[in-house]
Amino acid sequence: MAVFAISINFPAPLIQLDERRFVLELFHGPSLAFKDFGARFMAQLMRYFNTEKKDDLIILVATSGDTGGAVASGFYDTPGVKVVILYPSHKVSFLQEQQLTTLGKNITALEIDGTFDDCQAMVKKAFLDKELQSKIRLSSANSINIARLIPQTFYYFEAFKQLPESAYKTVFCVPSGNFGNLTAGLIAQKMGLPIAHFIAATNSNKVVPEYLRTGNYIPAETIPTISNAMDVGTPSNFDRMLDLYSSTWNTIKKNITGGSASEQETINELLSTYKKHTYILDPHGAVAKNVLEVFLEKNNNFRGVVLETAHPSKFIKIVESVIKDKIEIPKRLEVLRNKKKESIFMTSEYRHLKTFLKDRFV
Ligand SMILES: *Cc1c(COP(=O)(O)O)cnc(C)c1O
Repeated sequence: MAVFAISINFPAPLIQLDERRFVLELFHGPSLAFKDFGARFMAQLMRYFNTEKKDDLIILVATSGDTGGAVASGFYDTPGVKVVILYPSHKVSFLQEQQLTTLGKNITALEIDGTFDDCQAMVKKAFLDKELQSKIRLSSANSINIARLIPQTFYYFEAFKQLPESAYKTVFCVPSGNFGNLTAGLIAQKMGLPIAHFIAATNSNKVVPEYLRTGNYIPAETIPTISNAMDVGTPSNFDRMLDLYSSTWNTIKKNITGGSASEQETINELLSTYKKHTYILDPHGAVAKNVLEVFLEKNNNFRGVVLETAHPSKFIKIVESVIKDKIEIPKRLEVLRNKKKESIFMTSEYRHLKTFLKDRFV
């Protein structure tokens, strides 16, 4: 209970756009992305279980944009914990990068010359490296860590609590990359929450929507997009999703519909939602809203909840250029603008990461 209260000390308001459209705002935490729910909860748990240990715990994490900021802020200045964040160079927004690279103290950012999938592959190799594991205490903080998924189930309940009574069935539309967020929804449903259906929404990195459509899972190279936190070609929670359905495509596709939005569709959606509802989405929320619209068009007995996963100001350049209006940057993000970036540049070869970890922590 204490862990829960300390880590999730910010709201998740449900905003109604019209009778059939809702946005669940998950960006009211310190790093302005939904990753705060999982990262802060996990950080508190690890802090609790780590207090008696002699050696430092090294948290190794790959980020496609927002995980790094949330994990860094969750573990910042925690005694006995060091955080190493791998992020793809030039593939995160300016303010996302500032969140990772300006904290200092126990947080180190490795700027990788590669994609998010390269970063994730390096981290996974480290966890399988017996020699490294025998020398340092390593732990993961990615959404493969169940301690991140558990607190993410909470806000599905929180959304339901805020929904008005209605005859419509409710679909949750989840903008997805590694599919931790969606998997948490599936777990909430298994716990008994009466969610009628899910939509797995992606940008052009659409291996899961393709799987749902065809039954074939074909991991792909990452395609860079404006919804960069979802630029994932081999989603790490896919196996877990399948496992919840005993790996049966026929059952899984009855509960989850897939859909993807192109860059142009994402931009159009951002603009039309702003014009219609004076609501400013971020590019990730815009992907989900676009995919939801396609679903609502075909299923008129449904209403939909879009999970809005980041505050639009994290992507201020693109959002302002689309809506042709100024948006407000919350103070906790604004203060990062002029801080000095510190990162260690590295190629995506695993041996460099290994050498770095051994030199620094053994
Ligand atoms: C991480 C992230 C996602 C994707 O979430 P997954 O759990 O990896 O599917 C979507 N939107 C934003 C803003 C994110 O930071």
